[in-house]
Amino acid sequence: MAQKEDVFKKIVSHAKEYGFVFPSSEIYDGLGAVYDYGQNGVELKNNIKRYWWEAMTLLHENIVGIDSAIFMHPTIWKASGHVDAFNDPLIDNKDSKKRYRADVLIEDEIAKIEEKIDKEVAKAAKRFGDSFDEAMFRQTNGRVLEHQQKRDVLHSRYEKAMNDNDLKELRQIIEDYAIVDPISGTRNWTDVRQFNLMFKTQMGSSADATMDVYLRPETAQGIFVNFLNVQKTGRMRLPFGIAQIGKAFRNEIVARQFIFRMREFEQMEMQFFVRPGEELDYFKFWKETRLKWHKALGMGDEKYRFHDHEKLAHYANAATDIEFQMPFGFKEVEGIHSRTNFDLSQHEKFSGKKIQYFDPELNESYTPYVIETSIGVDRMFLSVLCSSYEEQQLDGGDTRVVLHLPKALAPVKCAILPLVKKDGMPEKAREIMDMLKFDFACQYEEKDTVGKRYRRQDAIGTPFCITIDGQTLQDNTVTLRDRDTMQQERVAISELPRIIGEECSLNNLLKKLV
Ligand code: ATP
Repeated sequence: MAQKEDVFKKIVSHAKEYGFVFPSSEIYDGLGAVYDYGQNGVELKNNIKRYWWEAMTLLHENIVGIDSAIFMHPTIWKASGHVDAFNDPLIDNKDSKKRYRADVLIEDEIAKIEEKIDKEVAKAAKRFGDSFDEAMFRQTNGRVLEHQQKRDVLHSRYEKAMNDNDLKELRQIIEDYAIVDPISGTRNWTDVRQFNLMFKTQMGSSADATMDVYLRPETAQGIFVNFLNVQKTGRMRLPFGIAQIGKAFRNEIVARQFIFRMREFEQMEMQFFVRPGEELDYFKFWKETRLKWHKALGMGDEKYRFHDHEKLAHYANAATDIEFQMPFGFKEVEGIHSRTNFDLSQHEKFSGKKIQYFDPELNESYTPYVIETSIGVDRMFLSVLCSSYEEQQLDGGDTRVVLHLPKALAPVKCAILPLVKKDGMPEKAREIMDMLKFDFACQYEEKDTVGKRYRRQDAIGTPFCITIDGQTLQDNTVTLRDRDTMQQERVAISELPRIIGEECSLNNLLKKLV
């Protein structure tokens, strides 16, 4: 574990050193859980967004996009339930003066017990070898059963407290299980309080005419309140979807793990409207479709898993997370939710406007049901960065840091490197750049030895380096170096667009999805 945390620290500093992610307002000592994307980060982020947007809107004839405003009428957040229920239970430790989410402290305690069970299982698996029957072991081993029972008792107490919104009971659980602050090691806790995660501000200039408005905590509501606009003006027929990419804001109590949990972040959400009764089939369809989108990036199928929700929000009838194996464990990157007709009905109720769809086949009007796919751009970015980062030992004792980014997402697709700064090589290199730059993000570099330039490109994940040397001027060939294998081959300049295009184009990635 310590080793994995070390790797994560290295990834965070690599992200800064190579212009991917900077702490916000750094010269003023930063702003908690807010980050800026640098020159390479913004390109990677834009490529992730393009991949998602085009997968949604180009590959599905019945999905269109919108871009709604961040500010919305405050009643929207009343209707959606965010004003009353978008809360986290918080608790402070009086010694460390640190603030925690009470639910997270208890979940960590549950995870600790689960870890003990897993350790017993792993030990036994080693002891028994091939003949090990894990299911049988879990059902019969005394120690496992004891831990399991302890876990179940805690889990059901916790679940009930959360469902009942019982803050006193959450506090009592923390007391009963002697949960300590990981920093101070003490149990000197305050009471548990509810904390609303929405940022509030005022709109309007004259004191009596101002209105409290919120920075949206999700982009989805902008889609729901535009359902009729899009359906009518686009003459959309069910089933159809509306996609949106945009900023969201949450005043997270504990913001940690770099860009995993931020106070300002970006979401890519798609609401798919269907006939009532058909929602679970579409839920299944979107689960599969979204996982395929992730896996097509080639970061390793074993790094993904579904985590189906046992505890559903009162309006949902199915929900799952796509989790990705980060250096700090499997974590949610995307949520897929079957939200019934809750949101549209709520907006109908609160706005007093009829929000229904007339189904010409059934000859009746109804409130559509919704399947939502919701992914955080920044979490996706983090998963790409973490799975790409490698410190490689090379022959001869040398090391290199390389980002094996999915090639279509790489900020720079090819580096153009004249071997030396003379003998007509820079001019030839510029000619090649002028040919390629309309299709691929290219970077021209002539400073330092070519070896050093290769390392710099490896560190930002550039798939190809093109080196122009003396021979280039004679026969119009260059060396093309592959980031992952470091193999170099001599190829004709005229072949470059085809080779780079095959490996790096977003189109080829999208074609894997159909
Ligand atoms: P969590 O349980 O981690 O707080 P959530 O279940 O509240 O997340 P959703 O409301 O389902 O998250 O939001 C959808 C997606 O938005 C998440 O899967 C995640 O990728 C992203 N997301 C949510 N909160 C944050 C945040 N604070 N920082 C970065 N991304 C976030």
